Amino acid sequence: MGEKVSLSFDGMPLKKAFVREDGRAIIVCPHCGKAKEISVLSMAKRKSVVNVRCSCSTIFKTYLDYRQSYRKSTDLIGRYSIEVELRNRGQAKVKNISFGGICFEVATNHTIREGQKGSIDFELDDKNSTRVRKNFSVKAVTGNNIGCSFIQDRAYDKNLGFYLRTGL
Ligand SMILES: [Zn+2]
Repeated sequence: MGEKVSLSFDGMPLKKAFVREDGRAIIVCPHCGKAKEISVLSMAKRKSVVNVRCSCSTIFKTYLDYRQSYRKSTDLIGRYSIEVELRNRGQAKVKNISFGGICFEVATNHTIREGQKGSIDFELDDKNSTRVRKNFSVKAVTGNNIGCSFIQDRAYDKNLGFYLRTGL
């Protein structure tokens, strides 16, 4: 998963790797099959094709797919709730969304902590005002900004996928 031959480059099969939200991608050597993790965060510029040197001394090109790491800035209003805790629920301003997660701002004082689970419900500003309801796990709390990753069954969310893709 996350790696397959899908394109060709200079007549050679080009490997493809997905860059995750944390900026890392797993790359597998086509020669020996060894997996290697690279980080794109240290790259001065976002590159779509990188040369990778494996410890077996094979050098190969890999295509980096950033779609999973792409965050779309948004200005949407929704409602959130944290599991069990009645106190932690209310209006949320959705600041950005990616395929893997969401960041929203809560208006009031809160006691939301990392590791808690909850759900958020909002409408996209697309032409159908598509309603999105997602379960999440809290990954980072900075003041009133709550960074979350989606808890998903991996079922493809077509409307949200299209919404995010239109920003690419
Ligand atoms: Zn190798």
